[in-house]
Amino acid sequence: MNVVVDLNRCQGYAQCAFLAPEVFTMHGEEALLYRPVVPDGQQERVLRAAAACPVQAILVGEEAGTGER
Ligand code: SF4
Repeated sequence: MNVVVDLNRCQGYAQCAFLAPEVFTMHGEEALLYRPVVPDGQQERVLRAAAACPVQAILVGEEAGTGER
């Protein structure tokens, strides 16, 4: 499963980093780093993080545009 974060939309609320720390990490106040290929066993956490993001900046799976376009 792939994940993409729209960093223009991301406001650095860090909800994702709390919910899926293996995939999303905050560097400093606003810089978010993430792993675009979600490791096995982390899918559920990433889906929860995507649902919890206050600005819907996290796109997962097909929304992340795997291969198309
Ligand atoms: S929860 Fe959303 S706004 Fe907050 S750091 Fe993660 S992607 Fe950015």
